[in-house]
Amino acid sequence: MTMQDNNSADWLGRAREALARTDLSVQAQSVGRVERIADGIAQVSGLPDVRLNELLVFDGGCAGYALTLDADAILAVLLDEGAAIQAGSKVTGTGAVVRVPVGSGLLGRVVDPLGRPIDRDETIAAEAHCPIERPAPTIIERDLVSDPMETGILVVDSLFTLGRGQRELIIGDRATGKTSIAVDAICNQKNSDVICVYVAVGQRATAVERVIEAVRAHGAPERCIFVVASAAASPGLQWIAPFAGFTIAEYFRDRGQHALIVIDDMTKHAATHRELALLTREPPGREAYPGDIFYVHARMLERAAKLSAELGGGSLTALPVAETDAGNLSAYIPTNLISITDGQIVLDSRLFAANQRPAVDVGTSVSRVGGKAQKPALREVSGRIRLDYSQFLELEMFTRFGGISDTRVKAQITRGERIRALLVQPRLANLRLADQTALLAALAEGIFDDFPTATVGIVRARLPTWLDAQAADAVAMLANTGVLDEAVRRRLVAAVSALGADVAATEQPEAAL
Ligand code: ATP
Ligand code: MG
Repeated sequence: MTMQDNNSADWLGRAREALARTDLSVQAQSVGRVERIADGIAQVSGLPDVRLNELLVFDGGCAGYALTLDADAILAVLLDEGAAIQAGSKVTGTGAVVRVPVGSGLLGRVVDPLGRPIDRDETIAAEAHCPIERPAPTIIERDLVSDPMETGILVVDSLFTLGRGQRELIIGDRATGKTSIAVDAICNQKNSDVICVYVAVGQRATAVERVIEAVRAHGAPERCIFVVASAAASPGLQWIAPFAGFTIAEYFRDRGQHALIVIDDMTKHAATHRELALLTREPPGREAYPGDIFYVHARMLERAAKLSAELGGGSLTALPVAETDAGNLSAYIPTNLISITDGQIVLDSRLFAANQRPAVDVGTSVSRVGGKAQKPALREVSGRIRLDYSQFLELEMFTRFGGISDTRVKAQITRGERIRALLVQPRLANLRLADQTALLAALAEGIFDDFPTATVGIVRARLPTWLDAQAADAVAMLANTGVLDEAVRRRLVAAVSALGADVAATEQPEAAL
């Protein structure tokens, strides 16, 4: 009995010693297993520590991120082509949410939404890697929009001025010139300090190619970044593209610089969101979109802001693009976006078909915050044209079938026709502040009323070089101060008048037009 006691005490002592030597710290092993995979969505088990939106790496290096977390399984969206992944493949968590490289190394480059270059092999020197989802600036961190974001498009700059930090929706049916307006706005920044980020979501590769080529030929490509998730990219990549674009643009905003982001387009992004939601069996809501689509887009666009002086005074202007179906602005996604943004530029397919391009519908378009940012010179001369133009459009409808005898009505119609002709503008033919001011000042003085309508377009096209030759100092002064004094106004009007006479004498536009 005693001997047995001794033995067991001995054994217990040895066991205690062995235990003390053993390392009992827990080893977290984040290796999970693919249970099911279909349509770019993988069901993964065995990763209990994964966080929402965490970046996962599958066997073979394919990236994905955690979309929904359940008690025993997570659903992950693949960001790459996952042909090699099968049930049983290994998955590891990275412990970090999805991030993109940011910094000036991206300028001039074409990247995918994870910041991987797709234009050439040269790697991108990133200054940091930031999460694609970042909080929007708070009210205290913001300032009022006070500087204009000039697009060089007369109808936009004169009637729907955009401010730096504003969110303006470009909305219209298919092929009504939505992308063209955005590209013109980007190219116009050639003469400014604004950095442009163009995000392509679900676009045809040829369409993206056209945009990049246009910017390279007419803009300042060294200050542009293209984030491309074309129609062929995985839904996961398309979904994160605008968020990644915002993070890339915010880098400049937060350093006191000015940035412009174009999301082309939000409708395709909404469709991707719906696709992912349906694949993960989320309940569909109105028009089959999951209920959180509003929140997704609202929190994304809230990141556009004008920052307060304490934070450097930088700005991020957003131009989201949305497509409508048969001009239906009251569909779910368009109404959402209209209520999220600070205004919309509505493009009308009938105007487009009638060659009124850009096909901006003056009646339904609005810019809610940019008006105060308009340069005084332009404000002074564009005051009446919206009213004159709307009155003309109404009058035109009434007088379509009958002859006009009243001279006042005749004059209004003559003026309206000149305004309409003036608002036509080809792509990539941007007008500077001085050109716009000169044209509108001349219009207000009735200079164009004496010429046939067809003269207007020719004058507009030839005006920039004409002004450079005839009134270079006035152009420079306007560019510097933005203010129009009476002497400069008279010089500009005289220059347009002389050009009009020159055009009428040499080009002989057909009076019937
Ligand atoms: P999608 O719905 O396919 O994205 P979209 O609305 O973006 O089309 P764009 O691709 O910009 O439209 O333009 C459609 C066509 O209209 C293009 O061929 C373009 O050249 C022409 N276009 C656009 N703006 C103008 C303009 N101001 N003057 C003349 N043509 C224009
Ligand atoms: Mg387009």
